[in-house]
Amino acid sequence: MAITADLLWLDGVLVSKEAATVPVMGHAPQRGSLVFDAGSFSSGDDGPLLFRAADHVARFLRSTRIVGLEVPFQETDLVRAAIEVAAKTRKDEGLIRWSCFYAATEPDLLPRAARVRVAVAAQILEDPPSTAPIRIAFFGDARKAPPEALHPHAKAAAAYLGPMLARKRAIACGADEVVLLDREGNIAEAPVANVCAVVGGALWTPPVTYVLPGITRDSVLALARDEGIPIREEPLPADVFASANEAFLTGTSYTIAPIGRINDRSLEGPGPVTSRLAARMAAAKHGRDPRFANWVTPLRG
Ligand code: PMP
Repeated sequence: MAITADLLWLDGVLVSKEAATVPVMGHAPQRGSLVFDAGSFSSGDDGPLLFRAADHVARFLRSTRIVGLEVPFQETDLVRAAIEVAAKTRKDEGLIRWSCFYAATEPDLLPRAARVRVAVAAQILEDPPSTAPIRIAFFGDARKAPPEALHPHAKAAAAYLGPMLARKRAIACGADEVVLLDREGNIAEAPVANVCAVVGGALWTPPVTYVLPGITRDSVLALARDEGIPIREEPLPADVFASANEAFLTGTSYTIAPIGRINDRSLEGPGPVTSRLAARMAAAKHGRDPRFANWVTPLRG
């Protein structure tokens, strides 16, 4: 769990989190049109470091364009806002959330005015993330909305309702997390993470046709290439995933979460490929991988 820091950046100024509210009758809560992105910062040798902040902001702006929200800020303003709210926490580790929503106070399906508001918040982790291998369930009828219904690259609040219900179902079955299928019945993604499997020594992950282009996923693929691990970016059949030697989730909130069970089958783990990539990811996030030094931005400097 994470707690929102006291000060948020709202439309260019710092305000208390109590002052940063949305109207209950507004479009964001009534229609789920709020768009967001979530990044992180981690300790480095000379102070905290944002991880791939410009990539998160670029993806955030892409989501806003898909939903049709016109953001009156530049990419650099939104990276600077993240630095500001992260630095204000005086913590070494945390999350950053960029949000954009219609200012409308009425729930008309098409808002009467197009004015939007933009917020950037830091969140502090209450507990260190669990390192226990994660138990996954998937169901033939728990699927991602197809791209014709909602573009999978738009991180819009409304997109998370189906995945939230699927996660509840997985938890009721004794798992920790759900993996959703795509409309063809192949593996898509978890509610807030991408899926990777290790099959015959290759790292296999679904292409981004039906899933969010995760920044952790992209980082893991770059590190795997650097390690000489073969990559298959291809549709991942559910039965291949279910019988993989190793599997893990990638996402800002997990970084790399080894999977210890898929439905009723236990996996020994974390396996060697997962462990190698997790160690490389940790080094990169803490600014200790010179090959990927451009992934991090110091908060002070
Ligand atoms: N898929 C979905 C639907 C997500 O919400 C997230 C979290 N942003 C991810 C995958 C993982 O993306 P990232 O590695 O950029 O956090």
